[in-house]
Amino acid sequence: MAEFDYDLFVIGGGSGGVRAARLAAQTGARVALAEEYRYGGTCVIRGCVPKKLMVYASQFSEIADHAEGYGWSFDKGRFSWPDFMAHKDAEIARLEGLYHKNLKAAGVELFDTRATLLDPHRVACSNGAEFTAQHILVATGAAPFMPDVPGIEHAISSNEFFELSAMPERVLIVGGGYIACEFAGILNGMGAHVTQFYRRDQILRGFDRDVRDHVAEEMRKKGIALRIQTDVDRIEKTDAGLTVHVDVGGTIEVDAVIYATGRNPNSAGMGLAELGVELAGNGAVKVDDYSQTAVPSIYAIGDVTDRMALTPVAIREGIAFVETVFKSNPTKPDYELVPTAVFTQPEAGVVGLTEGAARDFGPVEIYRTSFRSMYHVLARSDERMLMKIIVQKDTRQVLGVHIVGHGAGDMIQLAGIAVKMGATKEDFDATVAVHPVAAEELVTLR
Ligand code: NDP
Repeated sequence: MAEFDYDLFVIGGGSGGVRAARLAAQTGARVALAEEYRYGGTCVIRGCVPKKLMVYASQFSEIADHAEGYGWSFDKGRFSWPDFMAHKDAEIARLEGLYHKNLKAAGVELFDTRATLLDPHRVACSNGAEFTAQHILVATGAAPFMPDVPGIEHAISSNEFFELSAMPERVLIVGGGYIACEFAGILNGMGAHVTQFYRRDQILRGFDRDVRDHVAEEMRKKGIALRIQTDVDRIEKTDAGLTVHVDVGGTIEVDAVIYATGRNPNSAGMGLAELGVELAGNGAVKVDDYSQTAVPSIYAIGDVTDRMALTPVAIREGIAFVETVFKSNPTKPDYELVPTAVFTQPEAGVVGLTEGAARDFGPVEIYRTSFRSMYHVLARSDERMLMKIIVQKDTRQVLGVHIVGHGAGDMIQLAGIAVKMGATKEDFDATVAVHPVAAEELVTLR
């Protein structure tokens, strides 16, 4: 008889946990997975996927305006939040079903329940069942962090935003990171009056300064009331909605306040610390390069480890875990030169170092252009695109590529391959342009 019920017990059915469970099962391992909410995790249920659908939905108002420059005329249409939400929810349910089906097909045993740890090899499900496993993988993700502000109980996070039954007409978004900036664009495009507060001097901290300035300017041009160095003092509920008292003085009246002020790892109440698993101050599970915790049988991947909170990274961590533990091929996830996109409007796509970070390593050359794309000229839009390439002066290696504009996310995926391969500026220059596309600027910048 086997010593353990399972070779692997995965806690959490999000991007990382699902990938690890399926791949481990494909090696012949006996795998179980417990999920207390819905399969697909933050990305599928209340993150990347519904967000991107909302970005698409929000862009039609602008496309309709642009179309006039191309000879079309439309009666101004109306956006139906309930119709869109119903279609969005159906798509999320379809994807969730696929996750479920694929796990089953791989032979993973599923438990729709919360699971906690009893000892290094034993988990307890909230339905009372207990199981033993040789390895336990914690992939429980993260949850929105809401700061301690008077009246915060009147505010919502991204979780609730994805389930609102009606679109708020007047919204305050608090935060200057990925989620805050993406939501501002979504609601603005859908026709809401959007105010965004960010506490420091410019949104998207950590991104290249030119990207930050460019995105902020374009967001303002589209009508978002972006206020920097501004924060909420307190929120009051009134008959007409919410009154927000601003720390720099004054008040604003809104129907909803959405906090997008970061996320904290979901590690509380799982019995981790009690077993000797080390946690950081924000609850992040501390792991080594192979995602192993201080307790050798317990591993952790994805947002709960707070390494790089991105879906494709969690998936890579899941793959590396299976290689290491089930294929005798010790593999470290690679965090170098991870391309990423922010689905602001216009969107930003970046890979590699910012100009500021690159200068810390030595002399660099900067190639930069800002222009109105062919599409926007006839569309009578003053939206501008930004492209910036950072080159190490001595070696000519491209250290960073930063793009803001339509299609930046797709472009950076491809530029990321070249940068990851160590391309030089001359390699970029030697590539013949595709004409006429915006991305040709990447190979014609001089
Ligand atoms: P971020 O860490 O990106 O941004 C949090 C923002 O909230 C920052 O601007 C931060 O300000 C601000 N903030 C934090 N605490 C407070 C506070 N107490 N009061 C006021 N402002 C505060 O987190 P998000 O929630 O936007 O997203 C979480 C993560 O999810 C991202 O880091 C990203 O990894 C991932 N994500 C990725 C997406 C993508 O790939 N397109 C999309 C959405 C999320 P400050 O800068 O001063 O710290």
